[in-house]
Amino acid sequence: MDFNSYIRDIKDFPKEGIVFKDITPLLKDPSALNKAVNALYELVGNQKINKVVGMESRGFFFAPILATKLNAGFVPVRKSGKLPYRTISEVYTLEYGEDILEVHEDAIAPGERVLIHDDVLATGGTAQAVCKLVEKMGGEIVQFNFLIELDFLNGKDQIRGYEVKSLLHY
Ligand code: IMP
Repeated sequence: MDFNSYIRDIKDFPKEGIVFKDITPLLKDPSALNKAVNALYELVGNQKINKVVGMESRGFFFAPILATKLNAGFVPVRKSGKLPYRTISEVYTLEYGEDILEVHEDAIAPGERVLIHDDVLATGGTAQAVCKLVEKMGGEIVQFNFLIELDFLNGKDQIRGYEVKSLLHY
């Protein structure tokens, strides 16, 4: 399936100069959604995964679905102040600003095999912060898995040495 026709460019969102990849046309189409889930799942191959980590908020669309297909648990990484239990945190730089990401301190057990999923890899700041959070807990990162990779922003450089797989490249 050509997923590109289900991704919409929105100019100057959320700020002037940014071209935002809007994936909601893909999400609302039953066939495209189903095929995207299966294609993301196939990127993982036969690798055993214990936990799928998804980033707030667009990482939440696919990460729990991937987790159920992989017989893994789902771990939400959230913006500062949203998680109710004790957390560990990382400051990160975004394509548009700076923020803090948090995860529950008991979300991943040492040695667990982790898949990190987000909708878009842009500058890689978010992915790098999540990488640090997972490794602080002793998780073993098996793969970074994205729906879209914005190649021209070189986000991969922030997570060098890890397996990075993306369904679509721009
Ligand atoms: P990064 O930290 O610069 O790699 O930005 C990645 C994060 O920003 C992801 O959590 C994305 O959801 C979000 N993001 C950045 N650019 C876009 C975009 O064009 N479309 C949708 N989300 C984006």
